[in-house]
Amino acid sequence: MNETALRDSMARLSGSLFARGYAVGSAGNISAAVDDGLLITPTNSCLGFINPARIAKIDHAGRHVSGDPPSKEVFLHQAFYETRPGTGAVVHLHSTYATALSCLADTDPDDAVPPLTPYVVMRVGRVKLLPYVRPGDPALGALIRELNGSHAAVLLANHGPTVAAKDLETAVYASEELEETAKLRLLLNGLNPRMLTRAQVRDLVTHFGLDDSIGTAPSDHSDPHHPHAHHIDDSDGHDHDG
Ligand SMILES: [Zn+2]
Repeated sequence: MNETALRDSMARLSGSLFARGYAVGSAGNISAAVDDGLLITPTNSCLGFINPARIAKIDHAGRHVSGDPPSKEVFLHQAFYETRPGTGAVVHLHSTYATALSCLADTDPDDAVPPLTPYVVMRVGRVKLLPYVRPGDPALGALIRELNGSHAAVLLANHGPTVAAKDLETAVYASEELEETAKLRLLLNGLNPRMLTRAQVRDLVTHFGLDDSIGTAPSDHSDPHHPHAHHIDDSDGHDHDG
């Protein structure tokens, strides 16, 4: 996709997310990789009304080269591009249910979004909850770099989700799947939902040849306090994430 088409696509998908309530006000930002850097929605812009020609462009050295000033959360995006080879787009939202989950004290930091359906396993993988950091603080970029590319999706505590994927459409769909699963998780709160079992998750990972980040080995999969954990054994060479 050439840069003009990519800019149009960013504006169209941003507008779609806004129209369906995944973003409000000036919350959320979206980026996509281009040959000579990355494109990112401007600071204080509303995802509902992105002008393709004014999308900010950052070069590989992080310099703002054209368009409006970039989102102040640009380092969050850069950290994913730097640590996950093949990342073509990053979507950061403050969507309601995922953000609600990021505020719950009992959300498992190593497995923040449970495997309620096969789709969240297939499209999002295991989600890491990162500690609260003030918006705009580059420390958040450091927290993501520390993951060494092990996760495609994270929840920023008391802030919202961020998802990286090979292209823009995939990142948007994964963000939607994450939000819907967070909604299910909260709808089912206190109702003792049945999660997918480890064997069922393993079957998905094997059958669909999913990204390694989806099968990262847990430290707590035998913990009786986490009977629903969908973690995969590390015996087949998946990396530990913690
Ligand atoms: Zn944010």
